Amino acid sequence: MSRISNFLEVLERERLDAFLVTSQVDIRYLVGFSGSAGMLWVSPERVVFLTDFRYETQSKEQIGDRAEIHIITAEKGYYDWIEELKLTEGKKFVGFDENVVKYGTYKRLISRFPDVNWIPLADPIGKLRAVKDHDEVNKIRQAVDIAVEALSETLPLLRPGITEKEFAAELEYRMRRKGSERPAFETIVASGYRAALPHGIASDKVISAGEMVTIDFGAVFEGYASDLTRTYFVGTPDKKFKEIYGIVLRAQTTAIQSAKPGITGKELDGIARKIIEDAGYGEYFGHSLGHGLGLYVHDSVAVGVRNENPLEEGTVITIEPGIYIPEWGGVRIEDDVVLRADGAEVLSEQLPKQLGDIVIPVD
Ligand code: ZN
Ligand code: ZN
Repeated sequence: MSRISNFLEVLERERLDAFLVTSQVDIRYLVGFSGSAGMLWVSPERVVFLTDFRYETQSKEQIGDRAEIHIITAEKGYYDWIEELKLTEGKKFVGFDENVVKYGTYKRLISRFPDVNWIPLADPIGKLRAVKDHDEVNKIRQAVDIAVEALSETLPLLRPGITEKEFAAELEYRMRRKGSERPAFETIVASGYRAALPHGIASDKVISAGEMVTIDFGAVFEGYASDLTRTYFVGTPDKKFKEIYGIVLRAQTTAIQSAKPGITGKELDGIARKIIEDAGYGEYFGHSLGHGLGLYVHDSVAVGVRNENPLEEGTVITIEPGIYIPEWGGVRIEDDVVLRADGAEVLSEQLPKQLGDIVIPVD
């Protein structure tokens, strides 16, 4: 079944006659176009892609016969084409993604096409995107491999004296050299007391001996992201660091062992959370256990208390518990996994995480 026919089934279930796709990620997912401008009309009769002249060649190459393609001009915009092609004729209920369409666009749609009932849905294509096919998993695997190799080559630079920003730049440079399209998100390098910030974007702070350093980073390969975290210790860790690192590692590996199709996001989150709570650090684990991963770094699946839906086979998620203590620092460990019938396959297994692997001796 093609992705378009899967999506047509969703439209049928929602009793929609058509759908106007405006998210570039969803367009890429449905018809393969990777440019940054365009609209896709999907109805049982017609799949029409509209874009501007910059993408004339690219859209024909990437989309092939999955959609008819028309090029907008200054005189003839998106809505003129929709009108000229009579796409809305006989269409009473047309959906759009309420998380993507801006209010101004919505107002224009209702004034331009007053006979259509414009129906908002929340990320309907996200539910399809959650389950990855073989090809998609391989792209994520590539993005993981690029990131892991780049970090392994950059780690010798993690020494007292380097700044967080310098380390982030060295890491991003190596990911790029290995084929990453761009960093999947702003690289986090948070050292010492800054490790208490779960999202501590690399700063000018100099890394010193005796500090923990949390590095959260990812590559993008053919649109698909990886998202990995390791916490290192530069120098000799004290008892408290070893204790907290051990708890986070146990929570993370136990969650990975428990991850399988059918478990809900809430249950999986609860398994890791209980270990951290029982160890007395529950109040310091303030975020969800993980999230879906794919064309978005935060793909549609939530791995946290609010998701009571079972996770499906083929879903790719991150598993990333952490403990963050203000003024002391923090530890997070994050891996990317695919849910297989018999359990979780860890895509980032080759990135070591035992205590002995993450301590960087300084002389
Ligand atoms: Zn991350
Ligand atoms: Zn993540």
